[in-house]
Amino acid sequence: MKSDYIVGHLIDGKMVSGTGKSQDVYNPATGAAQKRVLLADQKTVELAIASAQAAFPAWRATPPLKRARVMSRLKQLLEQNAEQICQLITAEHGKVLSDAMGELQRGIENVEYASYAPELLKGEHSKNAGPGIDSWSEMQPLGVVAGITPFNFPAMVPLWMWPLAIACGNTFVLKPSERDPSSTLLIAQLALEAGLPPGVLNVVNGGKEAVGTLLSDPRVQAVSFVGSTPIAEYVYATGTAHGKRVQALGGAKNHAIVMPDADLPMAVSALMGAAYGSCGERCMAIPLLVAVGDATADALIAGLKAEIAKMRVGPGTDASNDMGPLVTREHFEKVRGYVEEGVAGGATLVVDGRKVAVPEGYEDGYYLGPCLFDHLTPSMKIYQEEIFGPVLGVVRVNCLQEAMDLIDAHEYGNGTCIFTRDGEAARYFSDNIQVGMVGVNVPLPVPVAYHSFGGWKRSLFGDLGVYGPDGVRFNTRRKTITQRWPSAGVREGAVFSFPSNQ
Ligand code: NAD
Repeated sequence: MKSDYIVGHLIDGKMVSGTGKSQDVYNPATGAAQKRVLLADQKTVELAIASAQAAFPAWRATPPLKRARVMSRLKQLLEQNAEQICQLITAEHGKVLSDAMGELQRGIENVEYASYAPELLKGEHSKNAGPGIDSWSEMQPLGVVAGITPFNFPAMVPLWMWPLAIACGNTFVLKPSERDPSSTLLIAQLALEAGLPPGVLNVVNGGKEAVGTLLSDPRVQAVSFVGSTPIAEYVYATGTAHGKRVQALGGAKNHAIVMPDADLPMAVSALMGAAYGSCGERCMAIPLLVAVGDATADALIAGLKAEIAKMRVGPGTDASNDMGPLVTREHFEKVRGYVEEGVAGGATLVVDGRKVAVPEGYEDGYYLGPCLFDHLTPSMKIYQEEIFGPVLGVVRVNCLQEAMDLIDAHEYGNGTCIFTRDGEAARYFSDNIQVGMVGVNVPLPVPVAYHSFGGWKRSLFGDLGVYGPDGVRFNTRRKTITQRWPSAGVREGAVFSFPSNQ
């Protein structure tokens, strides 16, 4: 059954339909099409860009403290409306409600960081850089900034981007995932309620055409992207070819090393959440477990099997479930295909989630139970490629160096972690591993809002991570001013040597 509920665009402070096609938004828990989302065409995206461009001069001139106060009010509104936002996330993404609450809370922390704008934008000042000369650096906004975000964190990832960009004095056009757009849109509407003037934040829903327009329009100064690596690479190449500043965060395949001396029950609990939380649809998820020594591998597999047997899979709205469905039927088929590929490729399927039982009424949802493979090898496709589903594979190695070499040889470098009680091993690992975010006995080392998020290798294209100090730098342009006010009436002759303090 088709729904007539339409998800539109937020342009210039108003909900509009614009022009373009539309597509279904599904409830992955039931498989039913529940809404339609409009897909902005070039003309509609250009309206949003024009609105952001028009709003820029006044917003740039608004004192940072006033911009920051909007963020403080938004934080309160997000807390007050958390239940409704998370219901929307679960209804369109499928993740369990407690997980949606977690992502929203992390997003709120980014709003809180953006509310420190006056402190973040103070710049640097040097008195008497030369005789009677003062010099200072300012962090000036760029103008119109665009954000393009993935389906897996519809609240948090957009909140990594636009609150800080806007607090820095930019105006923004956000293009969220067309697969679960409603929570993102509701949050943007709350930002208007918090006091953002029309045009400062615009949201256009859409796909390729909308993205292409944002990447080529000369009025867009910078683009933040988060999504899969092939699209990140395209966004980086296209955006920079059009002279824009671009940060494009891509996919991942994160390894967890477990050393023989680790607290194994603790590692098992941590890995359960990291591998199967959010159905494995997290860029910081752990889909690969590298066990040092066969005894470690055997003990971990026994522990994981026992924990998996206790897991409940079903709709995310039922608080007793640990894991919901995958996001779409297409993605479900893709992840299932990887499980089949793993079996055909010679890995040992220890736990098969393909025939998971779900509650009555949810048979058409996109459920795949937790899957556990043993004896993965680096030549296997299920080792190399990002699956983005509830599939954990165990690789057996003999020593820490062998485990680290595997990680360093992998194309992705987003996150990694080690479980050990040996401080020297942990220190050597975190010092040398070629990965951007590292956990020591911490399975999901997602940096807090006042640090910055970013992977290495093919997990990030560009120089700067998102949010935190990198986010401030990405969203501002440094200007350095050197100034003197000579006494009236003093006239000096021309100086032909290069100015210095010699
Ligand atoms: P995706 O790359 O399919 O989509 C991301 C965005 O790009 C969406 O807004 C989508 O509409 C747009 N898009 C998709 N195809 C496009 C095309 N051909 N041309 C132009 N735009 C296009 O990613 P997804 O499936 O929504 O999200 C999952 C991926 O995101 C995973 O690979 C995951 O690892 C990654 N991710 C990375 C991070 C990180 O911080 N590194 C965080 C979250 C998710």
